[in-house]
Amino acid sequence: MSDKAREEIRFEGAGVSPGTAHGKVHVVRDDLDDVARYRIAPSQIPDEIGRFEAALIQTRMQILEMQQRIAESIGTKDAAIFDAHLLVVEDRTLIDEVLRKLETDLCNVEWVFQEVATHYAETLTKIDDPYLRERALDIQDVTKRVIRNLQGKAPKTFLGLSEPHILIAHNLTPSDTASMNRERVLGIATDLGSRTSHTAIMARSLNIPAIVGLHDITAKLETGQNVLLDGTDGLLIVDPAPETLAQYAKIESRRARVVAQLRELRETRSTTRDGRHIVLSANIELPEDVDAVKANGAEGIGLYRTEFLYLNRNTLPTEDEQYEIYRTVAARVRPDPLIIRTFDLGGDKLAPGTVDITDELNPFLGWRAIRFCLENIDIFKTQLRAILRASAAGNVKIMFPMISGSDELRRAIAVLAECKEELLSLKIHIDEKIEVGAMIEIPAAALSANVLARQVDFFSIGTNDLIQYTLAVDRVNERIAHLYEPTHPAVLGLLKMVADAAHANNIWVGVCGEMAGDVALIPLLLGFGVDELSASATLVPRVKRAVQSLAIPECQELVEEVLKLNTPSEVLARCLELADKRYGDLLG
Ligand code: PEP
Ligand code: MG
Repeated sequence: MSDKAREEIRFEGAGVSPGTAHGKVHVVRDDLDDVARYRIAPSQIPDEIGRFEAALIQTRMQILEMQQRIAESIGTKDAAIFDAHLLVVEDRTLIDEVLRKLETDLCNVEWVFQEVATHYAETLTKIDDPYLRERALDIQDVTKRVIRNLQGKAPKTFLGLSEPHILIAHNLTPSDTASMNRERVLGIATDLGSRTSHTAIMARSLNIPAIVGLHDITAKLETGQNVLLDGTDGLLIVDPAPETLAQYAKIESRRARVVAQLRELRETRSTTRDGRHIVLSANIELPEDVDAVKANGAEGIGLYRTEFLYLNRNTLPTEDEQYEIYRTVAARVRPDPLIIRTFDLGGDKLAPGTVDITDELNPFLGWRAIRFCLENIDIFKTQLRAILRASAAGNVKIMFPMISGSDELRRAIAVLAECKEELLSLKIHIDEKIEVGAMIEIPAAALSANVLARQVDFFSIGTNDLIQYTLAVDRVNERIAHLYEPTHPAVLGLLKMVADAAHANNIWVGVCGEMAGDVALIPLLLGFGVDELSASATLVPRVKRAVQSLAIPECQELVEEVLKLNTPSEVLARCLELADKRYGDLLG
């Protein structure tokens, strides 16, 4: 081959774990050998069942071992992912079907098991539900492991790779990620995946730059090729030109400088240039996320997504269990606030095995959040009592998700009042004046904000859902992601309406959707007059810098101007102009 440099090729996916990596790729293709099929005599069935049981036990041990390893190295949150794998090896329907098929087909058990498990996984894949599709991946992962054990092969590992490399795979499963040699993996890129896929979750925890959703990157690359992976912008550059590398060296040192400067803001307050303090809090999903809240200098927790307590388990959390968790979190952030959102199950957050909200044609428009809680009063009251008891331990506030109108809100508040009375009659100490808020994430709620504001102490705008419902754009559908536009004039109109209604009724208003973590849009939110911003903990330092760099009058002027514009791109351009003037280094 000639020495002439190859032209670089760029692939775009979703950047899910920030940072850059440069090196040679290692392409992992599905390497499960063909599973042989052979006939067995009826007398051999007991032996096959014995082999199958032994393989299931061996698989279970391997998963537990891996779970332990992950728990020790990255934490229990990530280790919990393997609970779903354990459920697969214990799945009675799956096992019984294998035993039945062994008798009818009279074939070797690895073949029968592969047939049954593949059919099971395929059925789940066809259901238009991201959670169930993830479960199908769990089944595929466990299937390979069981078959390897039946074939007497060692589990697949990436441990053999001694050179630093960028891992390219169709889809990395949690067990793949656990078995890889983290010291050697510089970056990860996969064909499949979304922000919420396991690969993304693990890559972020491991702090490895990653891109998912590259479609067929495994078919396009060969082991040994040289790439540059930008997990911030979701860009994979094959055979990067010297100019690209030079450009990235500059980008990297600029990003590193920004991160170092942001670290210094940790103890400072999020006050605008003209002295307006904006409460800056963080969103958490699991109790252990509190560490990141403190470490990133947030003022408490603006959204605790408690439904995550339900996922990855097969029993409902009891009142005492929830109380212990809420109390601990409240005590850790005290005197700063902890805003506990009541369960928002449904949509893309399902908890099969605990509550059954499957089989809906439009889960995001379905039996979700407060609708589910108001029809499952026992589950709802258990949570409300736990929150109320924890309110004695800190600055706890409570908010209801997916409120669509005043009647629904009134009913939720009435159930809360009932729980208060029950606890007080038992002489249990609670914060009787606990603040109650409504999430504004349905256009109907935004349009009724004036009425709702009279029923609560605060509003928290869930822009993730508010945008999806206003624009009719499914927030997890990659195909229409370009239509998901926070700066759409219709969205701006609703945001203004909510903020104005809150202030006219003397209550405060916050934003806890992803928009609150987008520094390009902070001028807009401040211009609308929001009092609180709650973002992912890792984004808090950036948001703080943005708030500290802006003055309220210039943000109000911006709002006045953009409300006259007709298109999302014009609005965005104006926001970026002001953001760039005040903190351009954060935008790159
Ligand atoms: C939102 O919808 O903006 C929100 C914060 O809630 P979630 O993302 O959990 O639906
Ligand atoms: Mg929401």
